[in-house]
Amino acid sequence: MSFQRYQDLGHHITRIDTAMVRDELAACYLLKGGDDYAIIETGTHHTVPIILELLEQRRIRPEQVKYVIPTHVHLDHAGGAGGLMRALPGATLLIHPRGARHMIDPARLKAGAMAVYGEATFARIYGDVIPVDESRVRIMEDGERLTVGDRELIFYDTPGHAKHHFCVHDPASAGIFTGDTFGISYPALTTEHGPFIFPTTTPVQFDPPALKASINTLLELNPERLYLTHYGMVEHPRPLGERLQGMIDDYVTVAESIAAGLAVDEWQEVLHEAMLAYLSGAALDHGCQLDDDALEAILDMDARLNSQGLTVWLQSRAES
Ligand SMILES: [Zn+2]
Repeated sequence: MSFQRYQDLGHHITRIDTAMVRDELAACYLLKGGDDYAIIETGTHHTVPIILELLEQRRIRPEQVKYVIPTHVHLDHAGGAGGLMRALPGATLLIHPRGARHMIDPARLKAGAMAVYGEATFARIYGDVIPVDESRVRIMEDGERLTVGDRELIFYDTPGHAKHHFCVHDPASAGIFTGDTFGISYPALTTEHGPFIFPTTTPVQFDPPALKASINTLLELNPERLYLTHYGMVEHPRPLGERLQGMIDDYVTVAESIAAGLAVDEWQEVLHEAMLAYLSGAALDHGCQLDDDALEAILDMDARLNSQGLTVWLQSRAES
């Protein structure tokens, strides 16, 4: 199917492409309950006008958006929160207890991303990160419920990818907005065997047992569909979850074998190559028809992020 900026997924949910880096890399979602709306994930600061354009197309007044809900404070999920909150005067920002201070004062988030990417790339990918007024921030604890018009959302603490991560259960669609907890599945890698899914271990809080437990938490809700940030809706979650559990074990095995044989300063580079080889191999096993260059173009950024996160995890384990 050709690329769609906005895709209606049924159940009054629309998938929005955030336009981060490339098409079909990162999504956010518009959810309707009665006359009220919520936006789940924000993309980056560059995504704000894309979301506002959809509201205009649908003749939704800014005041009708009651909630802005990033699953965690990584900038591909929450980078647009400040800009969006400025444009939506009736909205409250809902965030994990460990994420709130970073939304109110994003200086550390911004500095962290600038250190990784450099100033020019930061500006191109993320634009800016604007603070959210403390009075408009509400913390959502594990198990807390929220009413959006005629539907109810339930929030679950899901550490493992990050300690500041929650997922949002939407019983009305039998769906869950999974952020990065339930991995990544790019549509370009979907085959006749279904979506190609893999875990994401972005630095700096990857925790394999916690991530596996969080995936189980989501599966125990018996969802029929998941709304991944990377990327879009997937159905039949159980076999996907089982595959993710096995791949988390594989990541750990690969990382440990590299750590056992090499000096610390070599870990990340070797892990990057190993991750790219592992993910490309898994995609080919899944029946993907792309050549090596096309696979690398899609998977290399995640191979690098995963290698960085696994290196931080190995180091923190070596220190404890
Ligand atoms: Zn992400």
